[in-house]
Amino acid sequence: MSTIANSKYEAVIGLEVHAQLLTNSKAFAAVSTEYGGSPNSQVTPLCLGHPGTLPVLNENLVRYIIRMGLATNCTIARKSIFARKNYFYPDLPKGYQISQFETPICHDGKIHIELDEYDKTIGLTRIHMEEDAGKSIHDQDPYHTLVDLNRAGTPLIEIVSEPDMRTPQEAYAYLTKIKQIVQYLEICDGNMEEGSLRCDANVSVRPRGQEELGTRTELKNMNSFRNVERAIAYEIERQIDLVETGGEVVQKTLLWDANKNQTRQMRTKEEAHDYRYFPEPDIPPVVVTDQMLSDIKKDLPELPDVRLQRFMEELGLSEEDAIVLTENRYMADYYESILEKLYKPKAVANIVLTEVLRVLNDKSISIREFSISVDRIAQLVSLKLDDKINSSAMQEIFNKMLTDDRDPEELAKQMNLIQVSDAGFVEPIIDEVITDNPDEVEKYKGGKKALVGFFIGQVMKKSQGKANPKQVRELVTQKLDGES
Ligand code: ADP
Ligand code: MG
Repeated sequence: MSTIANSKYEAVIGLEVHAQLLTNSKAFAAVSTEYGGSPNSQVTPLCLGHPGTLPVLNENLVRYIIRMGLATNCTIARKSIFARKNYFYPDLPKGYQISQFETPICHDGKIHIELDEYDKTIGLTRIHMEEDAGKSIHDQDPYHTLVDLNRAGTPLIEIVSEPDMRTPQEAYAYLTKIKQIVQYLEICDGNMEEGSLRCDANVSVRPRGQEELGTRTELKNMNSFRNVERAIAYEIERQIDLVETGGEVVQKTLLWDANKNQTRQMRTKEEAHDYRYFPEPDIPPVVVTDQMLSDIKKDLPELPDVRLQRFMEELGLSEEDAIVLTENRYMADYYESILEKLYKPKAVANIVLTEVLRVLNDKSISIREFSISVDRIAQLVSLKLDDKINSSAMQEIFNKMLTDDRDPEELAKQMNLIQVSDAGFVEPIIDEVITDNPDEVEKYKGGKKALVGFFIGQVMKKSQGKANPKQVRELVTQKLDGES
């Protein structure tokens, strides 16, 4: 297969991302959107498409999408309307989805992405509101497809990008950024595996230097960021090979098969869309007032790009550390809450980036499920900064704290880890180590100065970790160098 990097072709990628909003109730009906209820327990006559029912717009849907629009530099339409998108499917009893067509509420935005070698801005064509369909369940009954309408009417936003991406890695970075933004805004949990973020990828290729876009295919059914990246890479290769061998790309929808690592074609019948959009007559136009806009603006959190910059400039963190700490809003919040107790940005970043992150990864939990409070982490770091414990003791106490609620200082005492910086305590130990290791002393004096580490290690061990390593180093060198 041809490789993308040195090919004479260039790929063009545009993404359509659906994000499920975290409103309490559905887009147009006063019924819960909570996940996991027993099938069809969260439905109203409206969700079932009964004649005579009327949709009532959930104000939070409008607020949430405007949050997203403002966070991505979109123009907010002061007046927009809903449209009916008509199609037949068993999980859509109304026979249409309420969406927006000609006048999306947000348009012409941008999202900044960072890659290893460069940064780039991806244009957003539009962000519009719509409702989700129900769910068809194929694997519970051998003979029938079952339909659960709990999800029918759940509010979604669809974020449509310009065809501005050129590589699968850019698409991955773009999705990561969208997830980060919706999480910061607290409008969507951003979980692609559970379907609260969904992505369709449009892919085409063209000879490098050509302005005109090639014919695109649309990829669906990717349920993780990695799969989106893989599916796009696969499709680019497929299209280049096709064109190289004299073929032609045909516009169609392809499904990604994560087990086989390849795409397959949808039945053409499934693909035929003729949505016959027309304006939704039962919902009045959405009018966004100045007041509403300024209220929503005031309520926006600090966004990830800004926070990252601040962590570097104000807190003096390295870019690498700042990226990890701001990746997730709750992680950044946790970190900053510790700083409120103990303003030592680097020392606190250290323990969060090593110990805390290690536990989160090991247990596959989020920072919000993490058991050690910010107060106790601050106390632990203070002990270290005050030289009451050394770093290996800090690690040991940290591990203990995961399952023990006592104060770090109390634990340090109980575990006998309080550092003793009293020369009277370490000197006899150092003397003992020197007496016990005449060969090493000989070699050290003969010029092998690196052996100092050996002596320090022995002393630390004999002191059961309680000696102050800095002090030990000083005294050991003093004694060894002085005793000639
Ligand atoms: P549809 O609604 O039929 O999918 P749109 O015009 O809304 O069509 O485009 C959907 C997505 O496809 C957008 O993200 C857009 O950037 C992208 N797109 C359009 N044309 C191309 C192309 N030739 N190659 C790659 N992406 C494209
Ligand atoms: Mg599309």
